[in-house]
Amino acid sequence: MTNPSASISLRIPTFDDVRIAQTRISGAAHRTPVLTSRTADGIAKATLFFKAENMQRAGAFKFRGAYNAIAALDASSRQNGVVAYSSGNHAQALAYAAKLQGVSAVIVMPWDAPDIKVAATKGYGAEVIFYDRYTDDREEISRRLAAGRGAALIPPYDHPDVIAGQGTAALELIEEVGEIDMLVVPLGGGGLLAGSALSAAALSPGCAIVGVEPEAGNDGQQSLRKGEIVHIPVPKSIADGAIVTHIGVRNFAILKDTVDQIVTVTDAQLVDAMRFFAERMKIIVEPTGCLAAAAVMHGAIACAGKRVGILLSGGNVDLKTFNMLLGSG
Ligand SMILES: *Cc1c(COP(=O)(O)O)cnc(C)c1O
Repeated sequence: MTNPSASISLRIPTFDDVRIAQTRISGAAHRTPVLTSRTADGIAKATLFFKAENMQRAGAFKFRGAYNAIAALDASSRQNGVVAYSSGNHAQALAYAAKLQGVSAVIVMPWDAPDIKVAATKGYGAEVIFYDRYTDDREEISRRLAAGRGAALIPPYDHPDVIAGQGTAALELIEEVGEIDMLVVPLGGGGLLAGSALSAAALSPGCAIVGVEPEAGNDGQQSLRKGEIVHIPVPKSIADGAIVTHIGVRNFAILKDTVDQIVTVTDAQLVDAMRFFAERMKIIVEPTGCLAAAAVMHGAIACAGKRVGILLSGGNVDLKTFNMLLGSG
């Protein structure tokens, strides 16, 4: 049964919200560089602009949405703190953004999360509460925790201020290089792609907007084709930031009207892209961060002769994993 009041209360952000986010995060988030490479242009036969969010604070674009969502809270909810469930980049971004704004943060993480991630989250001053990923429902735990403390639950992608904050990366990119023919963006739950689509539609009308998923988890591609959100089992891919089972409701509301196509890449193509960035461009990009670039450089998208914006979404990969992935070839 549909609940009409629930759908009415759903706030879908617009480009105005991205502009507001830009003001809120300025001075806190880095304005990351836009990189170019003649070698990459030669491979793609196009002019590529890489927005280097691997150099963002806490190592990924997630800082933008997290910082914006906390800055948007009213004074009384700020006092009660924020709660997030994530073992990945959102947890660290939210913990860091909360610390910078003097807000307490609780992060709900699986007890078997890598020590390095737990340590990083605690290092930003957050309280970590563990759950069992095989038996517990982390969303339920987080909701109870937030309700008990009067804290704001900030989910990783299905939230208007998170989406608006993520949209500031594409906004900066287009401001810097001018209009582009195509914008290519990694897709997990759809926060980055939805926010980017708002910016591209407003600042570069006619720009084709393309999402890229791991081949093993193409729920977004299926959703766009079917015209409704498709749920899939937990996918298996080295793109750990994009192994979601479904995209968000607010995200889909934006994507269904703005995105031209969603394509997929294999794990092997992601590793190729990681190697290219390390060897040729001297930067570390995590597997998920390579999704868009891998699609362009492996010809999954027809972009010859075009001006193409590419979001490099993050750089958080420890050296042991980096070596393991690249060592074999
Ligand atoms: C979270 C994440 C994504 C996916 O972003 P969504 O907003 O969930 O679509 C892509 N790349 C990196 C590095 C991430 O951390």
